[in-house]
Amino acid sequence: MNMDVNPECGAMLAGISAYLDGDLDATACDAIERHCRDCSRCATLVDGLRETIGLCREAGSAPLPEPVRQRAKASIERLLACENPIRS
Ligand SMILES: [Zn+2]
Repeated sequence: MNMDVNPECGAMLAGISAYLDGDLDATACDAIERHCRDCSRCATLVDGLRETIGLCREAGSAPLPEPVRQRAKASIERLLACENPIRS
C-alpha cells in the first residue's frame, strides 16, 4: 500500500518553515491550527514546535534566538524532504 502524502501536510510544513523566517501571519497560523485538528501526525509535530519555538503563540512578538530557529528549521526541512521523496 502506498503512503499517500496529504498535500496539505506539505503545505503546512512549508508554512511553519515560513514562520521560522518570520513570514507567518495570523491567517497562516489559523490554517495550521485547523489542519492539526484533522491530522494527528501534524498535530504532534506542531505540539513539539509549540514548546520549542512558541509556534503561533505570540506571533511576531519576539524574534527567535538564531540557534533555536536554525534547529527547528532543519527539522522541518528534514520532514519536508520525507514528505516529498525525490523519486521518479
Ligand atoms: Zn498533516
